[in-house]
Amino acid sequence: MKSKKQNADFLHVGELLLAWYKIHGRDLPFRNTNDPYKIWICEIIFQQTRIEQGLNHYNRFIHRFPDVQTLAQAENDEVLLYWKGLGYYSRALNLHKAALQIVQEFQGKFPENYNDILSLKGVGKYTAAAISSICFGTKLPAVDGNFYRVLSRVFAYDFDISNSKAFSYFSELALRMMPENEAGHFNEAMMDLGSEICRPKNPKCGICPLNKECLAFNLGKIHEFPMKSKKAKATDLELNYYYVECDSKFLIKRRGDDFIWKRLYEFPTEVPAEFKTEIVHHKTILHKLTHKNLTVNIYKVILHKEEIFKNFALENGFMTTDLEESHQKSFPKPLENYLKWIEDAI
Ligand code: SF4
Repeated sequence: MKSKKQNADFLHVGELLLAWYKIHGRDLPFRNTNDPYKIWICEIIFQQTRIEQGLNHYNRFIHRFPDVQTLAQAENDEVLLYWKGLGYYSRALNLHKAALQIVQEFQGKFPENYNDILSLKGVGKYTAAAISSICFGTKLPAVDGNFYRVLSRVFAYDFDISNSKAFSYFSELALRMMPENEAGHFNEAMMDLGSEICRPKNPKCGICPLNKECLAFNLGKIHEFPMKSKKAKATDLELNYYYVECDSKFLIKRRGDDFIWKRLYEFPTEVPAEFKTEIVHHKTILHKLTHKNLTVNIYKVILHKEEIFKNFALENGFMTTDLEESHQKSFPKPLENYLKWIEDAI
């Protein structure tokens, strides 16, 4: 692997990829800019969201928060609101914290150095490498699942991608493929090839620019790569919520910073014994998180005495809201679906 000839082979594959990208790369709004703020926002949004699904969110977010200063000055609730629909809300909270960090530690100027970028809240090695290569030309591969999949297939490497050394292993390979002064375009090319051509399922090998070099394709073994040991099984978790209503108002409270759904709003999870005569089981919603299968039971409690409703809210730190006002708040997906469901039923 370390011979000159093999290094030239790696570079040849990198050049084929780049040549393909220059003709077939996707025309996306964030491709026409080197503004690190915009590249950062797009990298965070599209980490867990498909481009087609997240593009409107990206445009709206950039329109409302066009620069670091505007984002840093915004209220937490508003940032979460603009994130609504993208899920994984901790990403929005981290963006907000990192914007404040840039203002406080970097005098409001987006850092240019890889390690400084990596020090920002919520920014991992992949995102830091993507920003520093695309915006500042740093020669670093932005290694993610696309790199693992494409490189495993092209070179028929049976390196287990769930191994903790996979990142450094594939980073070293990717560096050998990277043509000089083209780090940003090379990383973007890999993103596009991985999502448009060398997809996890049904790769389009017939039109792939690497099909002549690709060992897995030529050996008829595409589905053996990338190699990955079995995932840990998701565990089951049951949650109970109470939608406590009085005169079209209901109770909510903001979650803390621990466990899932950080800083989002939720309903009470317990109610006093005297409410129990008013309870009906209203809906059960099944929801999957990365490592958990959730069963969310929602019970409806209708209180007719406002005094009891208000006292319970006061003593337990709940705020009151109504369906219309709740649109301005961010809820975990199952509760958001529940609210939509009761709204549609009215
Ligand atoms: S030939 Fe097929 S498997 Fe190989 S890199 Fe291209 S799309 Fe992926």
